[in-house]
Parts: sequence; structure tokens; C-alpha cells
Amino acid sequence: MAEHAAMNPEEIERLLAFDREHVWHPYGPMPGAVDNHPVVAAEGVRLVLADGRTLIDGMSSWWAAVHGYRHPVLDAAVADQIGRMSHVMFGGLTHPPAVRLASLLVDLTPEPLTKVFFADSGSVSVEVAIKMALQYQRALGRPERHRLFTVRGGYHGDTFADMSVCDPVNGMHHLFTGVLPRQIFASPPPGGYADEPDPAYLDELASLAARHSGEIAAIIAEPVVQGAGGMRFYSPAYLRALRDLADEHGVPLILDEIATGFGRSGTFWGADHAGVVPDIMCVGKALTGGYLTMAATLCTSEIARVISEGEGGGLMHGPTFMANPLAASVACASLELLTGRDGRGRDWRAEVSAISAVLEDGLAETRGLPGVRDTRVLGAIGVIETVEPVDVPAIQKITMSHGVWLRPFRNLIYTMPPYVCTPDEVARITEAMVAAARSL
Ligand SMILES: *Cc1c(COP(=O)(O)O)cnc(C)c1O
Repeated sequence: MAEHAAMNPEEIERLLAFDREHVWHPYGPMPGAVDNHPVVAAEGVRLVLADGRTLIDGMSSWWAAVHGYRHPVLDAAVADQIGRMSHVMFGGLTHPPAVRLASLLVDLTPEPLTKVFFADSGSVSVEVAIKMALQYQRALGRPERHRLFTVRGGYHGDTFADMSVCDPVNGMHHLFTGVLPRQIFASPPPGGYADEPDPAYLDELASLAARHSGEIAAIIAEPVVQGAGGMRFYSPAYLRALRDLADEHGVPLILDEIATGFGRSGTFWGADHAGVVPDIMCVGKALTGGYLTMAATLCTSEIARVISEGEGGGLMHGPTFMANPLAASVACASLELLTGRDGRGRDWRAEVSAISAVLEDGLAETRGLPGVRDTRVLGAIGVIETVEPVDVPAIQKITMSHGVWLRPFRNLIYTMPPYVCTPDEVARITEAMVAAARSL
């Protein structure tokens, strides 16, 4: 990585000054309140900062870069596709990378999911899923069924329909009062992954659904892991209950697998923890191995048929960069690598369970620390929930001094390491998290 010349201090200061004044960062004020850290390269599981320091990326670039950076197979897939075409419109045209990727997705997802809509980000794939549910209900002659049933504590993206199904408090619904559609919310799933399901909660889900039965278009949830809404893991029994309610009320179950998909929680799909199969499913984040933005919404043949026979005559969505060939090529390469189909002998299940063991071991000592409310691990996800909201720059200073990049939010210090991290690298991440927890 030495060939990536570090920037000199004046160059860094100029870059940061412009960044602060003109470049908006996620969920941030303008001008920026704190400096961002300039990155000039990334390789393997490490980010290279402009001042020459390297950091193990405990975030996998927001849970996407499961194979790390500059992976030779993924680099080659993009380079090869650039030599053919970087993009063509998808209206009236198709191409091999899109068809190959659709075929892989149909193969890797549960059997009833056979139809694939390519979206250009996770948020858009959730919009598309919601649109599918609404067009489906209209086509069935039930336009009064236009509300979504979900649980609090969720996160489904930042566009308007998505925000309406995010947790009302974390999702800042009060900023958009009167604008967001009002959805039907049950309480957050209580307890943890391994806790016995609470019969009172199951009753609450059932009675809320019964009360609103005639107006529910679909049920939407993240399977078993609630990600950006609070990094909580809930009992698979609750997911089975949502599946049963969807069947009972004759509405599709939409599962948002954008964070959980492709092995992150220890099973290939989050829904596999519960043996549940959705009618509509969103995938994104790790789909392209973190190389390019792409997501997809899959649905059953029946939902596709009803929508297509309905008044619009099709699904009313079609992004400019739909099925982008570069993204589709690298997604194919990433999925083949992940599932060992390319014959390289990678085994995501072994990788995730090895990471899980190191996270469990390394984070155990944080249980019972004064500032820590809960420490939990599921698959390759390690979470320390603190009692108070954390001072993010202060925590990052500690983790960076341990050579690790993390981005805590609210009261959560967590990691989702790239699957290619060695046990030693995962241990470095847990050491950094322990040091951060001890500082509270
Ligand atoms: C990240 C995420 C999204 C939004 O995806 P973007 O690509 O950021 O638009 C939606 N749902 C879940 C569960 C996510 O984790």
C-alpha cells in the first residue's frame, strides 16, 4: 500500500476546508461540525488515510464490503466490464450481466421468489417493494388497502415511503408531520434473539393486525436483525408470527434483507433463522461486495402476474441507471466468490462463524462495565449498547489509536467486519471496542 503517496499537511487542510464548507455528509449539518477523515486508498480490510495511517475497517463501508477492498476477482470483473460497456439504458435493452445476476438471485433466494426488479440503492428497492404491494392491492380491486404494517425500531431507508416505515422516533417523523403516510406500528419486538417469545407481544401483533385488517397493503420488517434502527436482534418466533399474520390477512410479507442478506447474521438470509419465506424481498448493501451501488427487489410469480394484469399494465418504476452493467458484473463476481461457485473454495458460513466466535470472546469482558447496558453478537455483527449516547469523535479517537475504523451512532458501538478479516484482525477490532467501552 506504500505506493499510495500520503498527502502533505497543507493538501489535507485544503481538502478538509472545502469539504467542511461545501460537501454535505450523511445526516450532517452544513457547514460540517466535525472534520471527516480523508481516505486515499483501501486494500484488503484496511483503509489508508491521507496522512499515511492505516485502519482496519470494522464497518465494511456500511456493511457492504464483505470481501474487503481491491479484491483481485472483483477488480477484474469491473475492468472486464468497462472494456465492454459501463452502462446502457434498460428500457428496451438487456444485457448478459443483468440476466446472469437475476439468475443467481433467483437461485439463491427462496423458491417462490422468481421475479427480479433492479434498483439503484437499497432505499429505492424498498420504495419498489412498497409500490409492488400497493399496485398489487389495487389490481385486486382493494385500493383501500394502502397502509403498511410494521414494528417500531426498524430502518428501511431515507426516501419518503421508506421513512414512513422507519421507527417514528429514530426516523424523526416529527420533522415531516403531515407529509409522511401514516403507517401501522406495533411495539418493537421485545427481548433478544434467544429469549422465549412473549405471548403478550404476539397478542399485540395479532390484535393490531385484526383492527386494521381492511386497510393493510403489506407487512414489512427486517428479519431478526433491526440494523440502523438500533442494532437489535429479536426472536425468530416473532418473524414467524408476522408471516402467519400476512397469510391470515391475505397480504404480502415484505422482508428487507438489505442488511441481513448474504450471510451477515450467520444464516444466508436473515429469514432463514425463522424458516420463513417472504413474498417480496429487498437485497442491497453487500450485493456488489461494496463496489457499486445496486439493490434488487424480488417477488413471487403471483404478485408479478397480478400487477401486470392490473390497470398500469406493469410495475411503474424505471431508474435511469437500472441494472447498471458494471454493478451487475461485480455483483455476479461477488456472489460467486461468496458462495464458492467460482471454485476458489471460499466458505461464507465458516468465515462468519469464525468471526462470530472471536467477537463473542473479545467483547465478553464488556458485559457488566458501568457504561454498558448490553453486549450482543449474532453472526458477524458485534454490538455494545451503552447506557448513554456516546461522544462519537471521542470514541473514534480511541478506536483509531487502536488502528480500527468504527462509526458508532446514538448509544451503539458496533462492528460488522469484512468476512475476509483474519481472527487477529477481528481481535484488533474487539480490543478497540473494549477500550472504547472502558472509557465510558
Ligand atoms: C441500509 C439499509 C437500507 C437503505 O439502503 P441504501 O442503499 O442506504 O439506500 C434499507 N434497509 C435496510 C435494512 C438497510 O440496512
